[in-house]
Amino acid sequence: MKKLKSKCLVLMSGGLDSMLSAKILKEEGLEVIPLCFESFFFSCIPAEKACKQIGLKLRVEDFSKEHLKIIKSPKHGRGSGINPCIDCHLLMIKTAGKIMKKEGYDFIATGEVLGQRPMSQNINSLNLIEKESGLKGLIVRPLSVKVLPATIPEKLGIIKRDNFYDISGRGRGKQIELAKKFKIKEYPSPAGGCILTDPNYSQRLSELFKRVPKFTGNDAEIIKFGRIFWNKDLLIIVARDAEECAKLTGLRKRGDVVLEPYNFSGPTVLVRKYKKSSQKEMIDCGTAYGFQYAKKIPDDFILKLLPSPKPL
Ligand code: SF4
Repeated sequence: MKKLKSKCLVLMSGGLDSMLSAKILKEEGLEVIPLCFESFFFSCIPAEKACKQIGLKLRVEDFSKEHLKIIKSPKHGRGSGINPCIDCHLLMIKTAGKIMKKEGYDFIATGEVLGQRPMSQNINSLNLIEKESGLKGLIVRPLSVKVLPATIPEKLGIIKRDNFYDISGRGRGKQIELAKKFKIKEYPSPAGGCILTDPNYSQRLSELFKRVPKFTGNDAEIIKFGRIFWNKDLLIIVARDAEECAKLTGLRKRGDVVLEPYNFSGPTVLVRKYKKSSQKEMIDCGTAYGFQYAKKIPDDFILKLLPSPKPL
């Protein structure tokens, strides 16, 4: 009977390392399924672009709710911003592991490089992730295979150690050479597209968490935009351009006050309450903050109050 092709899931961020890992495994003759996770803090758009370039079809899994929980209470601490990289990566691996077992994949692969990131890609973190995910020996890191212990797929002969790489450390030279070999021309910078590593957003989210420990995904999303102010228990967001005006309007929830200038030039302002406040208080507060960024305000100014969206 003809042996079925071995298949693996490759965690795909859209960065060069995950693209290379998928390519290396494809060259090895495996069926490769790139898997990307979506949350309130990152999207799969870069991964979609990357997969188009390397000729693979991306699978997208939304794990926003589970991800939000670890943002609030990471077991393994945070990086330089509010990014809980070890817990986040662990959640991705655990979720991929469940899919692997349920759907009969042989192993999981990642674009990790030993020693590339001080917090999440040192040997202790890689071992911890294997142990806590219950996937010991089933995570292949194609770029660093030769500097890591043999995995189960190697021992079973599914992949051959000699065909993989011995990259470690923070340099990018070997990856860039490999990109040329595989004719990968476009790839994002290693900084990545995760807003949790952005110092400005980290500060906004930390403040939200301090004031509203039970914040929702919508709260986390809306503070990506505009100028942010807090006045007692009111969050005030003043849009900086037309795009942000549209974002605030689109993300408004029932109970929010959204003010749009009607007969003068100025920003859209959203006011959200986290405790009891009257609509009048919210309008007064939003008007005061919005006026600071408005151009000439006429005596007969009119602010349009957008209707609250209907409950879901
Ligand atoms: S950078 Fe962001 S997406 Fe990547 S592991 Fe850290 S928290 Fe998760």
